[in-house]
Amino acid sequence: MTDCFDVVIVGAGLAGLQMLHQVRRTGLTARVLEAGGGAGGTWYWNRYPGARCDVESLEYSYQFSEELQQEWEWTRRYASQPEILRYVGHVLDRFDLRRDIQYHTRVTALGYDEPAGRWTVRTEAGDEVVARFVIMATGCLSSANLPRIAGRETFAGEIHHTGHWPHEPVDLSGKRVGVVGTGSSGVQTIPVIARQAAELYVFQRTAAYTLPARDQPLDPRLRAAVKADYAGFRERNNAMPTAGLSRYPTNPSSVFLVSAAEREAAFEYFWGLGGPLLLRSFGDIMSDPAANALVADFVRGKIRQIVKDPEVAALLSPKQPIGCKRVCLGTGYYETFNRPDVHLVDVASAPIEEITPEGIRTAAGRYRLDVIVFATGFDAMTGALLSIDIRGRDALSLRDMWSAGPRSYLGLGVPGFPNLFTMTGPGSPSVLTNMMVAIHQHATWIGDCLTYLTDQDIDVIEATGEAEHAWGLHVSETAGRTLFPSCDSWYLGANIPGKRRVFMPLVGFPAYARRCAEVAAGGYQGFALTRLDRGRLAREHIAPSRSQPS
Ligand code: NAP
Repeated sequence: MTDCFDVVIVGAGLAGLQMLHQVRRTGLTARVLEAGGGAGGTWYWNRYPGARCDVESLEYSYQFSEELQQEWEWTRRYASQPEILRYVGHVLDRFDLRRDIQYHTRVTALGYDEPAGRWTVRTEAGDEVVARFVIMATGCLSSANLPRIAGRETFAGEIHHTGHWPHEPVDLSGKRVGVVGTGSSGVQTIPVIARQAAELYVFQRTAAYTLPARDQPLDPRLRAAVKADYAGFRERNNAMPTAGLSRYPTNPSSVFLVSAAEREAAFEYFWGLGGPLLLRSFGDIMSDPAANALVADFVRGKIRQIVKDPEVAALLSPKQPIGCKRVCLGTGYYETFNRPDVHLVDVASAPIEEITPEGIRTAAGRYRLDVIVFATGFDAMTGALLSIDIRGRDALSLRDMWSAGPRSYLGLGVPGFPNLFTMTGPGSPSVLTNMMVAIHQHATWIGDCLTYLTDQDIDVIEATGEAEHAWGLHVSETAGRTLFPSCDSWYLGANIPGKRRVFMPLVGFPAYARRCAEVAAGGYQGFALTRLDRGRLAREHIAPSRSQPS
C-alpha cells in the first residue's frame, strides 16, 4: 500500500526537524524520510574524535521556541558532537517529533505526476510514498567525498571517513594512523588522534588557515545574560552578514587607514577573541586582495611562532587568500606538529599514488599504517540532492538541468519542479551563515508559504524561468564583488573532480532574508501559482496578489 501525505520531508537533520515542526503548525500531514538510523544529520554521521561545532553554542540552536531556548543549558562555548546529539534528542521528545520520522529509509528517486499534482517518492527498499509537496532537507555537507585512490580495497587495516564515523568506538591506541585532509574535520580530529595513536601521519595537500577556537566552559553569567533577552540576541545576530557573533566587535574601516603598529594591535586583539573573528578586524579583508594579504601574513607569522621546525611551519603556512576557503577553528592544531610522533607529509609536491595492503604510497615514499582516516570533505551543496534521481515536469531531470551548475530561485525552488522546496539550497546564503539561522529562515518561509497556498486554495507553486535566471545572475554578481571565488574551494565545487565550477551559496544574508519576505508579501513573486480544476484538469494561473516592491 502506498502512503500519502501532504508533505514529505527528506532528511531528519536540524533542517528537517524544524521543518516538520513548522509543517505541523500548518495543519498539513507530514512524514520525514531519513537514511540514517537516527536524527541529527551532520551530527549523527560526523562522530569522529574531536568533532565539535565551530559556531558558538548559544547561537547554534533553534530559535522557534522561547521555552526551548530557556530550558536547554549549553555547557561550552562550542558544543561537542555528543552534546548536540543530546540536544537533538531533547528536541525530538519535547516536540513529539519521533512519530513522524521514518529511519533507515534512503530516498532514491522522486517523480512528479503533473495531472495529479503529486510527487511519488521512491526509497531504496522499493517503497513508495505520495505527497503534494516535497521538501528537501538533505543538507549542504552530507554527501561524503571519498577520493578514488588506486588500491583502496587492498588495504589490510581499517579505513574511516570523518563524515561516516562508526558508532562503535574506534581504538587507535598504539596504532599507526594516517589522516588524509586538513580542512575543518582534519584540523579538529588531528590533535585528538595524535594523543591516542602511536604515530600519526598527516597527509596535507593544501594548508588551511586555522584560527584558535578558544573553546572553554560557557560562563554561566553570559548564558544568563543571553537568556534574559534571547529574542533580542537572535534579532541582533540575524542582522549580521554571517547571521551571528553580534556580541563581538566588528571594525568596518580599511586596514590601510591605520599605522602598521595599530594594524598589528588590531590583528592581535581579534586573534585573541578566537573563532573566525580575525576576519572582522578590518572591513576590506574579504574584498581587497592587498588587505587580505596583510592578515594572511599575520597568521603565517603566528604559525612560525608556534611550530618549532621551520620546514614544517613553512609547509603548514597557507598560500591562498584567507577566507576564500572556509577558515578552520582549531584547538592546539599547530602545536600538535611539535610532537615527535606526528609527521606532516606534503602530498601537494608528492601526491598519493596508491593504497597498498600496508599503507599509503606517495610519489616520495611509503607509509606503513594500521588505520587510514579520510577527512576529505563532501560533495557540497548539490551532492546529496543529485544523489537522488529527481524528475520534475515532463520527466525533466534535475541532474541534467544542473549539469552546468545548480540553478535555482532564492535557493528554494527550481523551474520545472513544482511543489518541491530545497532547504538551504544553492543560491541561498546557507553555508556562508550560521546554518541554524539559515534553517530557521527557510523553515519559517516554507511553512508560511504552505499556509498561504492552503488558505488560497492553490495547488501548485513553481519558480519561473525568468526569476531563476535573474537570481543566478545576482548570485554570481554578489560573489564576484568578494574574494570568495579566488581559490579552489568546495563553495565552487572545486574539490570534486569533474564538477562544474560555479560559486553556489549567496553572499549577503540579511538582504536575502528581506528579499524572501518581500517575495512572500507580494504574493510569491517569481513563482507561478496554479489552481488545478481536477474535474476538467484545467489550470487557472493566479496573479501575484500585490505588485512587485521597487
Ligand atoms: P574540506 O574542507 O573539503 O577539506 C578536505 C581536505 O581533504 C582538504 O584538505 C583537501 O585538500 C583534502 N583532500 C581531498 N581529497 C584529497 C586527496 N585526494 N588527496 C589529498 N588530500 C585530499 O572538508 P572538511 O574538513 O570535512 O570540511 C568541510 C566543511 O564542513 C567545512 O568547511 C565546514 O563548513 C564543515 N565542517 C564544520 C565543522 C565544524 O563545525 N567544526 C567541522 C567539520 C566540517 P585540498 O584543499 O587540496 O582539496
